[in-house]
Parts: sequence; structure tokens; C-alpha cells
Amino acid sequence: MNVMDIFETMDYGPAPESPNLAQAWIAEHQPFGLFINNRWTAPANGQYIESINPATSKPLARVAAATSADVDAAVAAARAAFEMWSKTAGHTRARYLYAIARHIQKHARLLAVLESLDNGKSIRETRDIDIPLVARHFYYHAGWAQLMASELPGYEPVGVVGQIIPWNFPLLMLAWKIAPALAMGNTVVLKPARYTPLTALKFAEIMQEVGLPPGVVNILTGEASQVGEALVRHPGVNKIAFTGSTEVGRNIRRATAGSGKKLSLELGGKSPFIVFDDADLDSVVEGIVDAIWFNQGQVCCAGSRLLVQENIADRLIHKLRERMEKLRVGDSLDKAIDIGAIVSPGQLKEIQRLVQTGVDEGAEMWQPSWACPTDGYFFPPTLFTNVSPATTIAQVEIFGPVLVAMTFRTPSEAVALANNTRYGLAASVWSDNINLALDVAPKLKAGSVWVNCTNLFDASSGFGGYRESGFGREGGKEGLYEYVHPAWGNHTAVDTSANGHVTAQFLELPLTDGDHDLDDDNGYNEATPYDKLAAPLPTIDRTPKLFIGGKQARPDSGYSRFVYDPAQQVIGEVGEGNRKDIRNAVESAHAASGWAANSTHNRAQILFYIAENLAIRAEEFARRIVEQTGREMADAASEVEASISRLFSYAAWADKYEGTVHRPPLRGVTLAMKEPIGVIGITCPDEYPLLGFISLAAPAIAMGNTVVVVPSPQSPLSATDCYQVFETSDLPGGVVNIVTGDREMLAQVLADHDDVDAMWYFGTAEGSQRVEFASAGNMKRTWVDSGRARNWLDAAQGESAEFLREATQIKNIWVPYGE
Ligand code: NDP
Repeated sequence: MNVMDIFETMDYGPAPESPNLAQAWIAEHQPFGLFINNRWTAPANGQYIESINPATSKPLARVAAATSADVDAAVAAARAAFEMWSKTAGHTRARYLYAIARHIQKHARLLAVLESLDNGKSIRETRDIDIPLVARHFYYHAGWAQLMASELPGYEPVGVVGQIIPWNFPLLMLAWKIAPALAMGNTVVLKPARYTPLTALKFAEIMQEVGLPPGVVNILTGEASQVGEALVRHPGVNKIAFTGSTEVGRNIRRATAGSGKKLSLELGGKSPFIVFDDADLDSVVEGIVDAIWFNQGQVCCAGSRLLVQENIADRLIHKLRERMEKLRVGDSLDKAIDIGAIVSPGQLKEIQRLVQTGVDEGAEMWQPSWACPTDGYFFPPTLFTNVSPATTIAQVEIFGPVLVAMTFRTPSEAVALANNTRYGLAASVWSDNINLALDVAPKLKAGSVWVNCTNLFDASSGFGGYRESGFGREGGKEGLYEYVHPAWGNHTAVDTSANGHVTAQFLELPLTDGDHDLDDDNGYNEATPYDKLAAPLPTIDRTPKLFIGGKQARPDSGYSRFVYDPAQQVIGEVGEGNRKDIRNAVESAHAASGWAANSTHNRAQILFYIAENLAIRAEEFARRIVEQTGREMADAASEVEASISRLFSYAAWADKYEGTVHRPPLRGVTLAMKEPIGVIGITCPDEYPLLGFISLAAPAIAMGNTVVVVPSPQSPLSATDCYQVFETSDLPGGVVNIVTGDREMLAQVLADHDDVDAMWYFGTAEGSQRVEFASAGNMKRTWVDSGRARNWLDAAQGESAEFLREATQIKNIWVPYGE
């Protein structure tokens, strides 16, 4: 073909990127060993696995298959390195991260080619998106390493971090994990995905080049069943950071429950792409190309559900099909292709299966007229119309180049359809009416919302999910907290003079009663010890009921339980709450969700008012503490004073814990909004009956959540005495619900409940484990004390930004601007 012919047809000519350098690098290194202590090590069992080029289905390289013995060696290396790395000055760590960023840029072309060969994604994307974002991530976190001491005072690195990453953005996911971990002083053992190990191995070589101290970063290739599971269960690992499927995330949540390991999960999605009728349809079509055909649709935040306003649907679908007809599928190293290869035959099969399900369920499938190459794993861009919202293809993450389209009539219908998913990772909103777009964005249950744009990422703007898309954020300042913990948590000594009560912060709290029948629906313990009643009985003048929906409600069981003083004298009774009471309380908490939309000023006023009404009855509350705990009156009075002060603090924070405006490198801003999580289940500790209760409930409601609180079973009367305080403080019904009874049984019901969005458990180590395990059901966020008591009087332990962070989740709204 000569130039004149090309002008005639205007066809694309071949524009291949050369694989030679990458192939030479592979040939020189393979078979690849494991990267432990900055050395290449043969796997313990001598086994190797093959990595395939999905665009040709030919073998690319042989890499080591690590075993659990190799995991032990890598964790030991990381442990030893942690001693030194965690004490290395922030400035020194910043220099290393800066050097890594520079070296990534130096090797950018090789990394891009390797990534395309190994994953099948187009060179245009690896060269222009993946690798630049990787470098940016290390530069950005070099800054946080430098600033850690001044910006995160009182925080320490968590230790050795096990990081497990998927195959869809191999080097970018590595960067998202390793950069913040190292910046905060942690050491790392990372497992790349089975299908895409090569850029991680080149990254290991870069670690040698920059002279990173041995053991700070260790990289183990191999199978999930060998490496992944061993890392998750390893007692020497302090945190697991995982990106991948929701199912594996759920298993990891269960496997780490009660282990005290910190956990962040970035999981699947089924993100809506919402088009209003005033949107610029040509831009929308290009947006859709980026939303669902970027990386072959193998993107956790892919805009895989097109929601289009009914009156423009036909026009948009017509334009879209015209554009799809022109998309090019082919070899990942061809610079002129739009869509590369699917990562593996297994993934291709899964996409084919789900597409067939869509057809079988009655949706209308459309694909372009041209055929895909046949020598690799390719799938054409596919559009489904006539899709019903409840069908499989509208609900299940396909993780392929498949778009399902549905229509809506009104903005509220669009929001309802968009939120009709168990996921909550991302959403795009397209409208030329910015008022409409910014009204819709906060209503979407998603960690990232893109206005008139899609699939934008930057290190400054945290990324992560709501609901079953996981918890924790990567990027931004919020992402740093995933890799640190409060320094006080590491010290065992505690000042006992303040209360004479708590003897050690790491006190193992005993179970309140040893024998819980968790299936017992009424929660009533047959063995309630009447024989413990000592004569003569003190007067029992009233039994507080439960507090549900702003009203006092009789417990469903019809039973009550005794409350004893330290001398085992009965001092009162409270309702014996059960499963049904919790269900009613959760329902009331949901019904009060308007609390989140209240102005922050209004929430602050109500918290001040609660403090004021508590202060009026301070002496009575102090006496109640004395009665329940046997502590001195002065000590109890100081607990009441601390509770009033705490209410003031969260009243103050209600209108001050605000979001941030980021300036990512684009013409526009991202608005990082701190949003309430929803309904939070809370169980209170036994120490400090009033302060423990207030310290947990106040930050949760200050941030706009509604709560179902189980007070200390040992000393519940301080919480039940608050009913009247709440009733006289204009607190709307249902914002705070209180169910007394067996903490362990009620915590289990809350943790199992699919309509509870987060669970804060303060109680025992066993209870913490049960709550973390059960939370995997709907992947609710958990915050547990692992049976370690806090000193609630201490400001760092009992009142801090930690509480506010646990009460909020960050949504980043991307708003590009300019003509
Ligand atoms: P997985 O969730 O299985 O894999 C992600 C990572 O976890 C890989 O490194 C994998 O190792 C590892 N892994 C798998 N099982 C375990 C385990 N039990 N314990 C510890 N680590 C484990 O995703 P798949 O690759 O199997 O893809 C399946 C589906 O998951 C896709 O179709 C897609 O829907 C979704 N997915 C979502 C991603 C996201 O970004 N949210 C990314 C990738 C997939 P190995 O590679 O050796 O199996």
C-alpha cells in the first residue's frame, strides 16, 4: 500500500510499538525469582509458572511460584527491615520515594511495553495513563513522607503490610499500595496477580537501583492459594491491603476477623453513567468509550450501566452504535487500537457466559459488524438495550467491554436506579446544567462521582468504595490513615490516677457472661441469678424501657434484666432487648436518615442543647455512676463533666469537620466531601458508663449518622437516664436508638444486619472477632477494640479525629471546568 492508497481509503496503517527491549529484558532475567531482602531468590519448592501474552496467547515469561515457606521468609525480612525503616526520618523516606518516581519515569517506555505485553491492554493506555499515574503517585507520597511528622502527629506506621493486587492495572495498583505504605514508614510484602507479574518484577529491580534498604519491599509471585492465603493469615503481618473481587474480599474479611490486622478492601463495582437530556451527546459518546471500553472494561469503576433520560435515549443509542462501529480491537502494542485483549481465557469465558445470560434473559444485544482477531483473547464492544434493572447483566459486575443501557424519566428516578446496586464505587453524571449535576452527585452512593467526565484518577484524590465495593481509601490524605495507627495504641502503661479504675490499656476485657446463646431469639438468659439477690432489696422504682424512634418502647421479649452494683446488690432493671428490638431500632434509624441532610449548624445546636440538659442534671448522673461502679463521687462527677465537654467538642466539630478541594493536574477541581456512613450500630464499653456511651454516640450523630446503641450491659443506667435528656433537647426521633440487653447477642444481630452500614464494637476480644467476621455479609465497615480497654478520659484515646474519621466516608466529586 502506498501513500496515495492510504489517502484514498483513510484506513489506519500499522503503528506497532517494538517489543524488542522488553523481550530482551525478559530473556535476560527469566526464570524470575522471588524478591526478598533485595535479592532474587529461588522459590522454596523450585516451581515456576508461565505468564502469557493475552494478545497472542503465547508464553511470555516464567516466574517463581512462591509457597508459604517463602511467605515466611519475606515477612521475616519485612519485619526486620521495619525496625529500621519505621525510625528512618521522613525526609530520608521522601528521598527514596522521589528516587523511585524518577526511576519509573526513566524506565517508562519499558514498563509500558511490559504491561501491555503481560496484560493485553493497549500501549496507548499504559504509556499515557498507567505509567504516568504510577510516577505521580510516588512523587505525591514523597511529599507525605516529608510531611508525616508535622501533618500526622501522634500516629505511627502499622508495621508489615501484606498487599494483594489484581491484574487489571498491575503496576498502578502496586503504586497505590506501596507508595503510601512506605511513605508512612511501613514495610511491604506484595503479591502481584497470577496473570500479570512482570511490571512488579521490573519494579523490584528499580528498588535495587535506588538502593532501597533490604526487606523494605518484598515481592512474591505465585498462586493465590499459596501466597495470597498465607499472607492473609500470617501472624507477622499487621495489615492487609487488597484490591480484587468482592468474593475474595469477603473471604479475607472473615479470615482476618479478630486477628487485630488492619484491613482495607477495594472491591468490585457496577457504576452508573447517568446522561440527562441537556448533555452534549458527542461528549457523552466519547465519555462512554472511556467509561466502558477503557482497559477492555476490566475496570472496577467502569461505567457499565448507562442510564439515559428517556427522551434522548434513541438518539444517544444511535450515535453510540455509530461510534462502536469505528472502534478498533487488536494487538496491545498497536498504537492505533482502542481495545486490547482480555487478560485470560478464563476471564473471556466469564464475559461470554454473562453476555449469553443477558441474551437469555431477553435483553437486546448489539455488536459492531467487524470481527475480532482470533489469535488472542478478544471480545468485541457490546451494548445491551431493553434491559430490566433486576436482571443479571444489570446487577453483576461483568468486568469486560459490555455496556447495559436503561432509561429514566426524572432526576429522582435516575438516582434510584443508580443506587439500585449492592456496590458503590463510582458514578458519572452528564448534564450541561451544573446545578442539576451537583444536586445529583451527593445523592449517589459512590466513592467517586465524575461530573461530565469519567475514569479520572489522581494521587491527591482518594479512591475507594461505599457498601460492597469495600472500605478504606487509596490516595489523598485520607489514604494515609490506612497505613498508620494512633501512637498511644502501642503503649501498655496507663495513667490510673485519673480514674483509679482502668489498670492497663491493653486490658483483656472479660466476657460479661460466659455463656451466650446467640440463637436465642429473646436473648433472655434462663439462668438469670435470682439467687444472687441479696436481702433486703433496695427499692426498684422504675424499669427503663428501650428507646426506639424517639419513644420509650417495651422490649419485645417482655423480659427485663437486673443491674447490680459492685457488691452484687440489685440497683435496677432494664429491658432485655432482642433481635426484633434491634430490627425495629434499625428501621427507626433509617427512617431518621433526614438527619444527614440537616444543616451542620442545626446538628451542632442540638448537641450543645444535649450538653446543656445533661449539665442541669449533672449531680444525678454522677450519683448514678457511683451507684453502678462504686467509684468516688468526685471521680464520677469528673466523668459527667468530661461527657459534657465531649458533647461540646462534637457540637464544635459538627460544622467544622469539612471537606477539601483538591487541585489534581487537570482543568478543574475535585471536591472531597465528608459524608455520613448511614446507620451505625454501636456497643459500649463497660468502663465509664456515661462517658463511653457519649464518646461514641456523639461523634457518630455529629457527622449526620443515625445510631443504634447497646449500652454497657454492666452499667446501662447512665445511658437509659439519657432518654429524657434527648427528649428535651430537640433530638429528632430515631437519630439515637438505645437497646439494652446482652451486648454480645445484640452485637451479633447488628453485625449480621444488612441494613446496618457500619459497626463500632467496644467489648471483648471474642466479640470483636465475631463482629468482624459477621460484617462480611454486607461488607459493612467495622471499628472494634479487640478487647483492649481505652482510657476514655484521655483526650487522645477518648476524643480525637479518629472518631470523626470512623463516622464519615469521603466522596470525591470531580468537576472539570473551562470552555
Ligand atoms: P481475585 O479477586 O480472585 O484476585 C485478585 C487478587 O487476589 C489476585 O492477586 C489473586 O491472586 C488474589 N487472591 C485470589 N484469591 C485469594 C485468596 N483467597 N486469598 C488471598 N488472595 C487471593 O480476582 P480475579 O482475578 O479472579 O478476577 C475475578 C473477578 O474479580 C473479575 O471478573 C472481576 O469481576 C473482579 N475483579 C475486580 C477487580 C477490582 O479492581 N475491583 C480487579 C480484578 C478482578 P491470583 O491472581 O494468583 O489468583
